[in-house]
Amino acid sequence: MSLILIHSERFAEHQTPPGHPERPERAEVLDAVAARWRSHGTEIIAPRAATREQLLRVHDADYVRRISETTGRATQLDPDTYTSPESYDIALLAAGACVDAVERVMGASHRAAYALVRPPGHHAERARAMGFCLFNNVAVAAAHARAMGAAKVAIVDFDVHHGNGTQHIFDSDPHVLYISLHQFPYYPGTGAAEEIGREAGRGFTVNVPLEVGAVDDDYQLAFRRIVVPVLRQFEPSLLIVSAGFDAHEHDPLGGMRVTTPAFGAMTAELRGVADECCRGRLVAAVEGGYDLQALAASLDQSIERLSENAAPAAWPTSGIASSRGQATVAELRPLLAPFWTI
Ligand SMILES: [Zn+2]
Repeated sequence: MSLILIHSERFAEHQTPPGHPERPERAEVLDAVAARWRSHGTEIIAPRAATREQLLRVHDADYVRRISETTGRATQLDPDTYTSPESYDIALLAAGACVDAVERVMGASHRAAYALVRPPGHHAERARAMGFCLFNNVAVAAAHARAMGAAKVAIVDFDVHHGNGTQHIFDSDPHVLYISLHQFPYYPGTGAAEEIGREAGRGFTVNVPLEVGAVDDDYQLAFRRIVVPVLRQFEPSLLIVSAGFDAHEHDPLGGMRVTTPAFGAMTAELRGVADECCRGRLVAAVEGGYDLQALAASLDQSIERLSENAAPAAWPTSGIASSRGQATVAELRPLLAPFWTI
């Protein structure tokens, strides 16, 4: 009952055009982080490819076929999403890694599993590639957990971008809670506080939009006042984390000022909830993070907080005055009051 990492050296085979932020060098960061944890005695396994049946729980058959047809050639799927000849196979491995992570944790062979994957997944819609993403890795994982019998699955997404795909795939489903903290307004344009889910899923989408420039203290406030209380009340059977590191202060895409230790603190907060609600069952999957050094250091901190004897959450104090977190909490209170006590 410990932590397992799921990683493949093949993730570098998904190639993007020169200058693209989601570049194969990100896979070298994942390789180096995996190698370091292996040397510390952490178990690491290679993923299997996701099956068609697993993908079709969250993607349209036509869409899966379209992506499969990119095999062997380079294509552009949207203004910033590309495939190389191997991308379909690699995207299957990324989604499959998340399925493997769920199987380990739901099968109780491991308490937590971290999928060190690329390409990322949270922008991928049911029938549309977007924002560097081909298949929605965490959505595939959540659907697999439900198919394995998980009554309720919570997804927390701290990537700097809103996970439009994940939100839309589950927005009418009360069994899958989606909580996203993200820079707003920003790409992809979704993720306003008012987006709370629809039909039976009303209240089970919780967006925490933060103004550009948010610091560690803003994130801490959002976690303590919104994210953790909602998770405790939802009582998930499994917690899945869309772990993007592009809210880092050095990230070239994001405009936030989150420091490396805060990514450890966020992960520790989530581990604490998983320990309380679901015997520690937590699956994390890498999303964005485009400064290679920041990605390496922040991912390392995040993994550290899921290892055996990790300390509880200790937030760094930013020392920068910011009221962004307070403003967001105040905005969310009346919107979430019908559904959650916060
Ligand atoms: Zn991102």
